[in-house]
Amino acid sequence: MVNLIKGIIFDLDGVITDTAKVHALAWKKTFDYLLKLRASLNFSESYSPFNLDIDYPRYVDGKPREAGIVSFCKSRNIILDEGDTEDIIEKGTLRGVANYKDKYFIELLETKGVSVFSDFVEFFLRAEKIGLPMGVASSSKNCKLVLENVGLAKKFPVRVDGVVSKNMNLNGKPDPDIFLAAASLLGIPPHKTIIVEDAISGVQAGERGNFGVVVGLARNIDKEALIKNGADIAVETLYELDFDTLNSMLANKVSREMKEAI
Ligand SMILES: [Mg+2]
Repeated sequence: MVNLIKGIIFDLDGVITDTAKVHALAWKKTFDYLLKLRASLNFSESYSPFNLDIDYPRYVDGKPREAGIVSFCKSRNIILDEGDTEDIIEKGTLRGVANYKDKYFIELLETKGVSVFSDFVEFFLRAEKIGLPMGVASSSKNCKLVLENVGLAKKFPVRVDGVVSKNMNLNGKPDPDIFLAAASLLGIPPHKTIIVEDAISGVQAGERGNFGVVVGLARNIDKEALIKNGADIAVETLYELDFDTLNSMLANKVSREMKEAI
């Protein structure tokens, strides 16, 4: 069979490194502090903590920092003022909440460290062996820091992250912009590109960008949630993925689309 796959774009947190867990902890601490603070100042609001199993995948995971805050707060009928760049969380502003989360996330990175998933390493080496170009597309402004921390920065010369997105004025996930920008920098057509994502917002972005095959990596959530939101296939580890299967999935998709077009 002709190899139709031209490249792979990976999400970072929760796909390459175990940092989705670190983000989740930092968000929990941030939102619980904010919600407690608001409940203590406002009698009409009662304190109901951030739920890691429900709120994190549904409203926050994979999205740019500010979009995650707006999305979760909306679910609690909370609207925050934008605030100033240097605000602290006690100001109750969007900037203040974002700054608190980032500070705690960096603190956790430094104290707990980061590790690379072994199934990612094995999959990456297989892809490297057959010469597939690979890139990273992450909403995180700490993407470069995390990749450097684990010694993978040089392996990914194409990196579209939260900092690059801001400079290029790209919309965050669930919009497909950052994946499309990464594909364009790699010089590969999106419909022949594999996306590997662990977040709902990420598989939604893959689907919206009409990518070749969107792989949902169900490390912390149900496979069904990823399939329902746009993944073509869901796996629990990357050991389960082989290039023959991915290639035939892509071939089937191409022939289905050609039939539909006739
Ligand atoms: Mg992720």
